[in-house]
Amino acid sequence: MALDAADSLAPLRDEFFLNDGEIYLDGNSLGPLSRAASTRVNDVLNRQWAKDLVRGWNVDEWMALPTQLGNRVAPLIGAKPGEVVVADTLTILLAKLIGGALELRPDRHVILTDVANFHSDLYVVEAVASRAARPVTVRAIDRGALEEEISDDVALVMLTHVDFRSGEMLNLSGITAAVHDAGALMLWDFAHSTGAVPLDVEGANVDFAAGCGYKYLNGGPGAPAFAYVRTTWQGVVENPLPGWLGHARPFDFELTYEPATGMQAFVTSSPSIIALAALSGALEVFERTNMDELRAKSLALTDLFIDLVETRLPGVFDVVTPRAHERRGSQVALRHDEAYGVVQALIERRVIGDFRAPDICRFGFTPLYLRFVDVFDAVEKLVEVMDGDAFLDERFKIRNAVT
Ligand SMILES: *Cc1c(COP(=O)(O)O)cnc(C)c1O
Repeated sequence: MALDAADSLAPLRDEFFLNDGEIYLDGNSLGPLSRAASTRVNDVLNRQWAKDLVRGWNVDEWMALPTQLGNRVAPLIGAKPGEVVVADTLTILLAKLIGGALELRPDRHVILTDVANFHSDLYVVEAVASRAARPVTVRAIDRGALEEEISDDVALVMLTHVDFRSGEMLNLSGITAAVHDAGALMLWDFAHSTGAVPLDVEGANVDFAAGCGYKYLNGGPGAPAFAYVRTTWQGVVENPLPGWLGHARPFDFELTYEPATGMQAFVTSSPSIIALAALSGALEVFERTNMDELRAKSLALTDLFIDLVETRLPGVFDVVTPRAHERRGSQVALRHDEAYGVVQALIERRVIGDFRAPDICRFGFTPLYLRFVDVFDAVEKLVEVMDGDAFLDERFKIRNAVT
């Protein structure tokens, strides 16, 4: 295929373990294993842990991994070295950043978020707000009405940059500027952005952000997440979940907490070394390219998919994902009343996407390992499913636990 022959990213596909004959359009949910991740994990198991044992904390520099890996995530989001740490999981890091940020605007009583936000984000923001030292109300609004809803009582705005259902990408710098104009702080969730779209937290003046390690970054199931704190807030914003490894001198065993400098203060517990090894390997693949190159191919893949769906299956699906490039992430969402059955019938034909309630077929396009021929073949299978009635099969009336 000519498009694949001209693709400068094509060789990176060989860096991944992919099943023969399968088209994986779900790297936005769980990225695949890379050779580098496999090598790093094996090295940690069989050399570092097996041989070095407790010495590993020193000789293998395990303690430095959260900030070292943070420095390698930093270029993917446009941050400076020292502004990112890898730890915990995304929901936990959001809780820390929300709790810390609230204390920076003590006279304000409202947090604004998106009613269409990911449920975990909504649970955690509500929980942190309800336990704050002063009354704090969370208002989950229509994100389109942000400018009308924001007021001088808003302490923090928390939004997910690429909508997990629709794939819509929000205006990072425009929204952050509007939030700052109202005197509030901005926390972005980059779960569906990091490794998928170029980000410029410095240019956009973002205060805080957090993102996921196991989606587009390919760090493995339940991989550690990352947090970004702008340099100007470091040493000012506090980690509301202090633990020994965020202490300035953890091995002095002092009874009073004194935060470490920089992003180390956002570490609470012992780093998960095996999981960090997988993420470290996964990042090596990103270090062989850059986000602009990845973005160009991602848009070409999603453009092609949308065009083919519309020409081969006119009127069958409602394409929910915006056409405008500046408003599109790296996934395409198709609405259909029988979306669950459509996705299951495709999975049986080895095209792996996922279903998001109530009626979305979701397909992630990951330029590191997807080929243009995969897009043609996936649409061919979709046509096969929709032309018959495979998607109406009785078996698909009962949903799996993970959809
Ligand atoms: C995946 C995801 C999460 C959950 O992350 P965990 O690491 O499992 O806590 C939170 N928010 C958004 C928007 C997500 O897409």
